[in-house]
Formats: sequence, structure tokens, C-alpha cells
Amino acid sequence: MIVMKFGGTSVESAAAMERLAGIVRSRIAQRPIVVVSAMGKTTNRLLEAAQLAVNGQRNEALEKVETLRAYHHAEADRFGASELIEEHFQELTELVRGLAILGELTPRSIDAISSFGERLSSRIVALVLGAKHIDSRTVVVTDERHTQAAPFYAETNERLQKIEWGEISVMGGFIGATLNGVTSTLGRGGSDFTASIVGAGVGAEEIQIWTDVDGMLTCDPTVLPGGRRVKSISFAEAAELAYFGAKVLHPSTVVPAIEKNIPVLILNSRRPEVAGTRITAEGPKSKAVAKSIACKKSITLVNIQSTRMLMAHGFLKRIFEIFDRYETSVDMIATSEVSVSLTIDNASRLDTIRRELEEFAEVESEQDKAIVCLVGDNIRWQSGVAHRVFRALENVNVRMISQGASLRNLSVVVAQSDLREAVECLHREFFTDVDPEVFG
Ligand code: ADP
Ligand code: ASP
Ligand code: MG
Repeated sequence: MIVMKFGGTSVESAAAMERLAGIVRSRIAQRPIVVVSAMGKTTNRLLEAAQLAVNGQRNEALEKVETLRAYHHAEADRFGASELIEEHFQELTELVRGLAILGELTPRSIDAISSFGERLSSRIVALVLGAKHIDSRTVVVTDERHTQAAPFYAETNERLQKIEWGEISVMGGFIGATLNGVTSTLGRGGSDFTASIVGAGVGAEEIQIWTDVDGMLTCDPTVLPGGRRVKSISFAEAAELAYFGAKVLHPSTVVPAIEKNIPVLILNSRRPEVAGTRITAEGPKSKAVAKSIACKKSITLVNIQSTRMLMAHGFLKRIFEIFDRYETSVDMIATSEVSVSLTIDNASRLDTIRRELEEFAEVESEQDKAIVCLVGDNIRWQSGVAHRVFRALENVNVRMISQGASLRNLSVVVAQSDLREAVECLHREFFTDVDPEVFG
């Protein structure tokens, strides 16, 4: 068996779904389990509608729902999905009306709304393919951390093993349900994770992630176009890139795949003939120092200083306890005896955190920063990598630097306005003359 996951752009229109059908049918001998995202930007629109509803903008919310309804009809009626779409939109409309009355959005109701995209797209794609539909909410069992739920693997795998799969089967990504059967979601971009959970659970030969780019590229194409395709990469490298912002793969995707040692492929649904990127345990045998550059925007840098803490123990503990209490995760840190610099990507509770830190330290924060992260298994073996990074970035103001404990990444923090230049300089340094065995 193989798992084939198609992202939002790969199911965004009738034409995209017909392309999907061609790709899936050409692999029918491998008994594909197809995992699909919501059509196009449906999830964003659903979340916007929910927000409008609870903000007292009931009519605007219902208008958004109407626009989505028309979009689904326009693209999918030709596959015989009209009735299906009506049923789902009736339920959705009732839910949005209910939210408008309640005026309160809980994580659980966010999941109830945002699940509609995949609930519906998976039914439509099953129709397009004439395939068996499996409701992911009866299979992927999660904890109760709505909007960021984690799977219970034992329970999920047991259910996966009991399923009678069709010649082709279709499931929605991103969604699951708690042990009590309440709809949950795995976090934004979570359909990749679903594909990997399912692939590992059924012992698939391969997990294919079909998207809108040729594979993992040597840089984020939204920051710098023209990156090269990375032909193969290790699980550890892919995880690091995903974690540091390469949106092409959800950061949790490799976890189940590693466990069962199942290769993950990233492929382009518009150019299925391109070989894509193959992610495996060892990755390629190559001297290439770096495989790709990831970046994360909208980062806040926090500088914390305390001369009072000079020679005193417990400084770091006090700092991190405060970030922990306000559920704010810290991405990068650099420390000296009396000062700590760190980055966070969710600054929504920074004011409160700051007030508590100021009881024993001076605090400064800087917004609109970006993390640029050079990733490669060989970074740890090669000397002079930091020198090359600094030389390449000589005209960019680097605010912070850290070499991750994995020794597989080297990250710098720069002003967001310098992001493109920083990526361009690093890309020129590390990806101009490259090993054709590893890069396309
Ligand atoms: P899907 O809807 O198929 O899941 P996503 O939008 O989640 O697609 O992920 C694909 C996008 O990831 C690409 O269009 C690209 O803009 C972005 N991306 C960021 N970094 C990289 C990278 N290093 N290589 C390829 N794509 C990347
Ligand atoms: N549709 C969900 C999202 O937009 C999940 C996914 O596409 O992977 O986040
Ligand atoms: Mg995605």
C-alpha cells in the first residue's frame, strides 16, 4: 500500500481534482490511500467566518459561508457532489448561527468549524475517484487539545488495522476525534501528519506528499525564488527544516515515518514527472555541507539582563518558568553570565511575561525579526561553516546566532527587512556549485 496526500492547491479546482485522479489511478496497483486537505484556502475562510460570527458580525460570517458554498458547487457539482455539498453547508450554517448567538469561540468549536473543509473535500474526492470514503474522525483518535491535538497511536493503529480498504480509499487529512468522539484537528498544515500517521499505521511502502512545488527546495520560494530541488534528504534534516519554517512539510510528519522507516516523498501534482524529494533515514551519501535554508518570519527577540543575578544560580530557571507559565515556547536562545537573548514566535502574552521578568531583570524586546536557518547533516563534520556564514552575511546585521544542539543547523536572527538579502547571500555561498547527485 501507499499513502498519497494532496494539499489544498492540489484539490483547489475541478481541473486539480482531475489531475489528482490521473495521478492516483496510475498507481492503483499499489492500493493507494488518498489523504486530502480542504479545497484551496477553505480552512482560512472557515476560521475567518467563525471569528466574524463571535465578533457580532453575523451577516458577514454567513456571507463568507455562502461564498464557500458557491465555490464548492462551482468546482464539484460536475462530479455529482451537489447534494453532499448542500448537506454539509446546512450543518455549517447552523453552527455559524449558533456561534453568533453564543459570542464565544472555544478551541473545541474552532475544530467543529475548521473540520468542514476536509470533511467535505474528502467526500468529493472519493466521488471523483469512485473510491471508498473513510471518515478520519472514526479512525484518528486524539487527545483533547483541540486545534493542536496529538494522536493516540495505539488506539489509532488498532482502528487502522481493522479497516477494509478499497482498491482506492480516501480520507480527510487534519481531522480526527477524541476518545469521546468529539471532532478535533492536528494543527494547521496537519494533513501531512495524517498521511504519515496512516502510512505508519498500515505499514505503507511509501508516504507521498503531493503539493505545488517540485519538492524540498534549497530555499523558501516565497522569500527567494530560484532555489534548487533537493533530491534526497534525511529524516532528521527534513524535520529540522520543517521546524524552522519550511512549510512544505508539517514538522510532525517524519515522526511516525521514522518509527517504521517508511520513505516520505514530496512531489508536485502539477508536474508529476519530476522525481521530487525523497526523505529517508540515512539521506544521501554526499559531502554537501548544507541541504537547504529555512526561515521563520514575524519573530520577536527578547533580551533579558540582570546584574543582580551575577554569580547567582537559578537565573535561567526563573526566566523559563515564566515563559512556561504563559505557554509561550522559546525557539532560540543565547546566554552569557548575566544576559539571555531568546526568540519567540507567539508574542501575544509578552506584556505579562515582561512584567514578571522585570521583577528581577531589565527586558527589551524587538519585533519584526526573522530566523534564517542553514540545515545539513554534514554541518557538524565540517570545519569553517560558521566562518562561511559570517563572511556571506558580512553586510547584514546579525542580531543573534546559535548552532543547534543537533549540530545539524546553524541559525541567525536578522531584521525581517534583511531577510531576503540574508537568504540570497547564504544561498550564493552554499548552493552555487553543488553536487548533482543531491541537487536537481
Ligand atoms: P499544501 O497545501 O500542498 O500542503 P503548503 O502551502 O502547505 O502546501 O506547502 C507548500 C509551500 O511550502 C510551497 O508552495 C512553498 O511556498 C512553501 N515552502 C517553504 N519553504 C519551502 C522549501 N524549502 N521548499 C519547498 N517549498 C517551501
Ligand atoms: N486544511 C488544513 C490547513 O489549511 C490542513 C492542511 O491543509 O494540511 O491548515
Ligand atoms: Mg501543507
